[in-house]
Amino acid sequence: MRLTKVCQKLTGVDALVATDLSVDDGGVTFAVRPRWRKPRCGGCGRRGGQYDRGGERHWRHLALGSTILRLRYAPRRVNCRCCGVVTEQVPWARHGSRFTRDLEELVAYLAQTTDKTTITRLVGINWRTVGTIIERVVNERLDGQRLNGLRVIGIDEFSYLKRHRYLTVVVDHDQRRVVWAARGRGADSLTGLFDQLGEHGRAGIELATMDMAGGYLKAVGEHLPDARIVFDRFHVQRLASDALDEVRRDETRALAGGDDAGWIKRSRYALLKNPWNLTPRQDQKLADIQANNARLYRAYLLKESLARALDYRQPKRAREAFEAWLAWACRSQLPAFVKLSRTLRRHKDGILAYIKQRYTNAIVEGFNNRLRMIARRAYGFHSADALQAMLFLCCGGIELNPPLPK
Ligand SMILES: [Zn+2]
Repeated sequence: MRLTKVCQKLTGVDALVATDLSVDDGGVTFAVRPRWRKPRCGGCGRRGGQYDRGGERHWRHLALGSTILRLRYAPRRVNCRCCGVVTEQVPWARHGSRFTRDLEELVAYLAQTTDKTTITRLVGINWRTVGTIIERVVNERLDGQRLNGLRVIGIDEFSYLKRHRYLTVVVDHDQRRVVWAARGRGADSLTGLFDQLGEHGRAGIELATMDMAGGYLKAVGEHLPDARIVFDRFHVQRLASDALDEVRRDETRALAGGDDAGWIKRSRYALLKNPWNLTPRQDQKLADIQANNARLYRAYLLKESLARALDYRQPKRAREAFEAWLAWACRSQLPAFVKLSRTLRRHKDGILAYIKQRYTNAIVEGFNNRLRMIARRAYGFHSADALQAMLFLCCGGIELNPPLPK
């Protein structure tokens, strides 16, 4: 009786009975059994008749300092009406796992926040095992209703393994969480989402944010005809920054060897920064550009005025400013901006939709940065499934309750 109490206390599991305790070099091992007499199916949890008894197994629990704590039991097999012959459910662990629920909870919790080395050292298991634990936890915890009632989504692609592999990630703006992910990028990778949403779910989506580059536009237009498309304003502005940088490089090249080439080359940060963040030196640099290089300064003004146009709150004013910008960029005689103006004109409605809707892809981009960290950590799992599990663990709104001292 005493033994059972101690074991229950240490594992946080009440539904077990401890029958023996052994101590050796490997640590402390409790011999246990479930408190219920009639075995339950490991697949569905229904009670069933005993089929036979398998060999003895060990489940690893949290360590007490450097001492490893284990549970030992020879599980029965159940003849289940639904699942066939299946190993029985045990109250201290998930089906198929050799770790207790507490240990898995702690590992998942650490994986949300901590680096790889710390986890493996702290828990004393290898990294690959961490990956399988995360997959199990996510399978059980991920909100099965997360695609129901979706209203505003954000779509983005995420590259990993040095841009050799891609994930398409979909977030729910309302709940601020990742709700869907799939391998690959571009229109085809969204097919699975549209299937899962069903007709009703697809009809419920009012708005989709994305950037112009992803190739998701066509797929969304076809499958979500009622959804308003909002192009991410920050992506639009980034394109203008890229165009500005192209002008800077062209100018550097054109002036190569001359006195001006050097300082123009070094003006990158002054040009790309937001004007209110400039240091006095960068301010001076900008003044020099204004005085000495009309083309580059024009490019700078184009970048800034595009941002101002998107700052307007009134759709009419924004549209006027944006139209004026397009006209100016088009006759700016700066090839990079002429090209950009054509792209932006094509996507005008989606860009201006931002003014009214105020949605950007910032939340997706925020997740993207987190993803980058996750991918670095998940490297070594060697599978897209494991990376996705890690993604849902960290950005899918899963709340964990690891056994911590109160
Ligand atoms: Zn079953």
